[in-house]
Amino acid sequence: MEQKELLEKLNKFTRRELTEDEVYIFTVTLCDNEIDRDNECFSRKSLEEMAEKFIGVTGIFDHDPKGGNQTARLFCTEVVEEDRENSVGEKYAYLKGYAYMVRTSSNADLISEIDGGIKKEISVSCSAEKQVCSICGADRRVKACRHVKGRKYDGKKCFVTLDGISDAYEWSFVAVPAQVCAGVTKKSMEDTADEGEIPEQDEQEKRAELESKIRRALMLKDGSKKAAELFENVKDMLEISELEELGKNLAVGKTPKNFADDNSAYMMRGL
Ligand SMILES: [Zn+2]
Repeated sequence: MEQKELLEKLNKFTRRELTEDEVYIFTVTLCDNEIDRDNECFSRKSLEEMAEKFIGVTGIFDHDPKGGNQTARLFCTEVVEEDRENSVGEKYAYLKGYAYMVRTSSNADLISEIDGGIKKEISVSCSAEKQVCSICGADRRVKACRHVKGRKYDGKKCFVTLDGISDAYEWSFVAVPAQVCAGVTKKSMEDTADEGEIPEQDEQEKRAELESKIRRALMLKDGSKKAAELFENVKDMLEISELEELGKNLAVGKTPKNFADDNSAYMMRGL
């Protein structure tokens, strides 16, 4: 897309017309139709649905755990097909987003990092109305089936397809995924889980990071402050591993709707 065309689209989201010099435009890969490490995948149709729903949605940069979060906004999206197949033999496709930030002195460093191509990982948070089992076709949101994700049945690995995207909440951008803020992407979450003990001085930081993620996820989840308040009351009683588990079940990656039920169950157990 031409710069001029992008700028036109972008200015639909701004209060006043911004010039090329005032904004920083960049592209992100939001998600694709490949099976992820949780043995879940988005259908091609859900990518199209997300393309629509993610326009105008804010992205959060967990850039510096000590500093404030910085945000960018998606102003244009498209589903891009590649000339290859994904692991289930469908055409590989991904959701590409065009995002912008208004240039300020405080985000100059962040912008140069993005420009410099520092490894970035993105997680999206949305709700899926259907979770279809690849083995029996059951919608697990309606009725559980006996198949276990990741397990093989007659040589075929079970995975769940997320379909019917009803809401898109946010996307997060991690500039340095290797950092302690493991709650951000599903991937780094799992990686750190296997690494055993974390150094003492990092623990406080990690805790604070996890707590803020959970707080944010709870607010996004039901839009009320109730769950978030409940969390404030119990958080100090939770072990870091429990915080991790809670974070994992909340905003991390995709957030299928029935997580609401899972969370309340968890909170009860946590209490
Ligand atoms: Zn099944």
